[in-house]
Amino acid sequence: MLKKSKRAIVTGGTRGIGKAIVKELAARSCCGVLFSDVAFIYNSCDECAEEIQREIGEETKVFAFKADASSFNDAQATVDAAIKKLGGVDILINNAGITKDNLLLRMSEHDFDKVIEVNLKSVFNYSKAVIKTMISQRYGRIVNIASVVGLIGNAGQSNYAASKAGIIGFTKSLAREVASRGITVNAVAPGFIETEMTSALNEAQRQTLITNIPMKRLGKPEDVAKVVGFLCSDEADYITGQVISVDGGMVM
Ligand code: NAP
Repeated sequence: MLKKSKRAIVTGGTRGIGKAIVKELAARSCCGVLFSDVAFIYNSCDECAEEIQREIGEETKVFAFKADASSFNDAQATVDAAIKKLGGVDILINNAGITKDNLLLRMSEHDFDKVIEVNLKSVFNYSKAVIKTMISQRYGRIVNIASVVGLIGNAGQSNYAASKAGIIGFTKSLAREVASRGITVNAVAPGFIETEMTSALNEAQRQTLITNIPMKRLGKPEDVAKVVGFLCSDEADYITGQVISVDGGMVM
């Protein structure tokens, strides 16, 4: 029988990419990560949290915590509660994110601040909340979900692109700080992935996007989740401070 060996915390685990990551980590039975127990954080969708727990079933322990990932105080309390349930923490996936798109001319201060708080500050909050534990056990895997938009920018997304570029700088800096303690810190930069976040695109916008994707399709949440699973596995022990694009070749 496979040993349950890893404990993971995933922010934004109820929908889209985060949900696929929770399932990937819970089911992963190869590459050194055997059946992770997972605690996920979500902000609003109680039914989504219940559904994911039902879908994963009893093979793996899955715990849901309702919290606003942008709150520093909530983060430490939530991580402490998750560690209590899981019996520790080996893996952190910073995935929670939102968009509030507009041209800079029309972007409000509120929409700029909100996107930075949820997308970037949350990465600081949760990384800070787990790092002492990871340092003292001399093991940890942190994967931050950035975006190709953080690499190349996107008109109408200056707030979002700034948050994702910030995540990339944070990832590389923390990777340098903790590499000698057995902790890897990497970022995954998805291109356009089929989730609720991209469901607002109309057919014409989708077709224009697809024209610029060499693989001629949008990505699936599972495309991203598999790379995250790999980065958490023992096979990725010697990879840190990297940004891996999962974008069908959009940015190269
Ligand atoms: P999504 O379908 O909108 O799901 C977002 C998830 O984040 C939900 O589980 C949501 O929980 C959670 N969340 C939002 N605000 C939160 C908060 N303040 N505190 C805690 N949880 C919060 O988004 P997605 O497309 O899967 O995106 C996931 C990540 O990938 C994001 O960081 C996004 O920027 C990034 N990304 C997405 C794409 C894409 O094309 N979809 C491309 C590049 C990068 P509730 O349901 O409870 O609100």
